[in-house]
Amino acid sequence: MIPFHAPSIGEEEIAEVVDTLRSGWLTTGPKVQRFEQLFSAYVLARHAVAVNSGTAALQLALEAIGLERGDEVIIPTYTFTATGEAVVSFGARPVLADCRADTLNIDATTIESLVTARTKAIVPVHVAGQACDMDPILALAASHQLHIVQDAAHALPTSYRGRVIGSIGELTAFSFYATKPITTGEGGMITTDRDDLAARIRRMRLHGLTADTWSRESDRGAALYEVVDIGFKCNMTDIAAAIGIHQVRKADAMWRRRSEIASAYGKAFADLDTCHTPPEVSYGTHAWHLYILQVNRHALARDRGEVIQRLRMRGVETSIHFQPLHLHRAYRRFLGTVDAFPVAEQIFARAISLPIYPRMTDGDVAHVIQAVRDTLGELRR
Ligand SMILES: *Cc1c(COP(=O)(O)O)cnc(C)c1O
Repeated sequence: MIPFHAPSIGEEEIAEVVDTLRSGWLTTGPKVQRFEQLFSAYVLARHAVAVNSGTAALQLALEAIGLERGDEVIIPTYTFTATGEAVVSFGARPVLADCRADTLNIDATTIESLVTARTKAIVPVHVAGQACDMDPILALAASHQLHIVQDAAHALPTSYRGRVIGSIGELTAFSFYATKPITTGEGGMITTDRDDLAARIRRMRLHGLTADTWSRESDRGAALYEVVDIGFKCNMTDIAAAIGIHQVRKADAMWRRRSEIASAYGKAFADLDTCHTPPEVSYGTHAWHLYILQVNRHALARDRGEVIQRLRMRGVETSIHFQPLHLHRAYRRFLGTVDAFPVAEQIFARAISLPIYPRMTDGDVAHVIQAVRDTLGELRR
């Protein structure tokens, strides 16, 4: 069986974790500091602040812009629940937008009609690692004085018009969950160029204290601290950062391998009328965190579920991204009746995510290609 995902953990990560365990310092300390330096250099951001999940990264970014109960935040319905959950955790209301049929990213043309006097921010998600078309979103935010917090959980590395995601705009949130482009097991990062936002996030990730334990310990005599805000508890451990230090160094190489696999898939499926492959866009690059193939239901005798079953029988594990938020019970309860989002619903009904990760061998890739071609061939109308 070819699993849907397997992380790339090498001897370097293992040795660094062991070194951390032997060092006597387990929580936020020198390894987190090193990981933050390497990460900010990698995405060309002035500041990078490490936390214990991508969800926490979104929450602290939204806290930093002053999100409050009753505010509204425009997010795509075609995303993972963490994007909406971070908004709801402040008592704010997620206002859903449909996505584009080509890139699967938030449809910027629908955003303006969703802006109200209560709108505080827009959270674009770079779905699958494909860059959102940011210029129209940035222009809209500027004209309505809205904040932008980018959900870049999939987007490492991704660039938009020659600029790296993580260096554009106010705040960007990354995830290092086990399946993400780089992993620390669990973890996340916020990047920003603004000193004030970075300082606030650093404080709020650890109880709202004036200084973290590491700087208190290393700066003898300054052992006294003060609680200046009621904060959160979502600092990253040095154990997790030990993994991250090596993952970020490998990020480019891992991206090149995913790109190779994506290009092999694209070539192998180009002649099929039973499916659509992800498009290339002129304005940005793709991290290839996910490879979302869309089956053409009109050309097939059976539905997407049957395709997934037969791929499994051929030894290929797949996944589905994403059930739009408005189709989940919790969001229905929370949002009441919401308008239909026809594009997101259509993509959800057709999407199959294929395995794409550096540990796949050329043989694995060829096996997936053959399994997809055989399955779609036998189900063709
Ligand atoms: C994974 C993910 C997150 C949250 O990341 P965690 O590290 O799992 O908390 C946020 N947004 C999107 C789109 C994701 O896929």
